[in-house]
Amino acid sequence: MLLKNLRVWTGEDATYSDVFNAIRILEDGTFEPIQSDEVRPGELAFDCQGLTALPGLIDAHVHLGLDPEVTDPFAHGKLPESIQLEAMRHRTKMMLHAGITTARDLGGGAWLELTVRDEIRSGKHQGTRLLCAGQPLTSLGGHCHFWGGEATTLEEALAVLDRQHSKGVDLIKIMATGGSITPGSQPADAQFDQALMDHAVNHARALGYEVAAHCHGVDGIRHAAHAGVTTIEHCSWVGPSGWGKHFDADLAATIAAKGIWVSPTVNLNWRRHLKNPEGLAAIQARFGKMKQAGCRFVASTDAGIPNVFHADLPKTLDVFSMMAELSPAETLTAATRNAAEALGVSDQLGRIKKGLSADLILVEGDPLTSLREVETPVEVFLKGRATLGLFAQ
Ligand SMILES: [Zn+2]
Repeated sequence: MLLKNLRVWTGEDATYSDVFNAIRILEDGTFEPIQSDEVRPGELAFDCQGLTALPGLIDAHVHLGLDPEVTDPFAHGKLPESIQLEAMRHRTKMMLHAGITTARDLGGGAWLELTVRDEIRSGKHQGTRLLCAGQPLTSLGGHCHFWGGEATTLEEALAVLDRQHSKGVDLIKIMATGGSITPGSQPADAQFDQALMDHAVNHARALGYEVAAHCHGVDGIRHAAHAGVTTIEHCSWVGPSGWGKHFDADLAATIAAKGIWVSPTVNLNWRRHLKNPEGLAAIQARFGKMKQAGCRFVASTDAGIPNVFHADLPKTLDVFSMMAELSPAETLTAATRNAAEALGVSDQLGRIKKGLSADLILVEGDPLTSLREVETPVEVFLKGRATLGLFAQ
């Protein structure tokens, strides 16, 4: 199949391609950007005049098992598994239809999201492609302990990681600090010392995994950075003086030097900061300092936590660009190419490039001028299949 007369943003540059204006989708689910004069006679071609193609979006931080309308974190696991699975399938479908072709699930309690992941991989269910962390490693009574990943000693911590490995996870998640949704847990506090973090990350690496670390407090950020995790989630710079008040330039430089990605989980609720000029300026200053230190970002939402809906990433990008003062191209890069690199799948996903999985969205208008254009994709392709039904195959 061929999509012709397109404008193409490949994800490689800050501008639209001045070479490619068509995309060939191959039988094996990969694609190849081409020029329209390379169209083969008899090839099934669709005229996409007025549309722009972008790589499919990636949300680097979601929780498929959490219902955003439920505030009690203990409530989710109490539903029958069949109902939880059905809700999760539905969420992956909504995400895909919104243009999110890949999502990284950073924690659940019963590996049900892995079941849905496998159903999607095998083609039994149509939904966003998933990479799953299973149960996050956490301290006794620590952040999200209700998911079952508690450990006090190093031995127990490694056993938690081995259990995730035996379940077939795609990566490891470690709660390096406390979090807001867990009663009794303090976001500012580190949950593990440096030695345990080092051992746990080394163990995960030896098993072949990337590591995502949940980090609000600055001590936890330091432990995670020195241990060499792959992504730092939230990166909230919390300490005794409050949220965002403990930015550490040396530590930010370490994060950058080690090539660790920052996944700031800016979600739609951050719109509240737009009404508060002082708060907004403080957030922008913090992002500015991280950028100055060389930190690089991936787009992420923490979808599933109260009031953060699973399919919202496309609507969130505009807010993210305002908070982090990123251009539309930089923001889209954070949600495509950067995210694919951070997830360790850049050889398959994140760009419109020959041989990569044909995950792409078609939008109207000029998304490199207005990110709002990605909120309403005209069509979404996953592995070369049109999922909104516009392009009959
Ligand atoms: Zn989370």
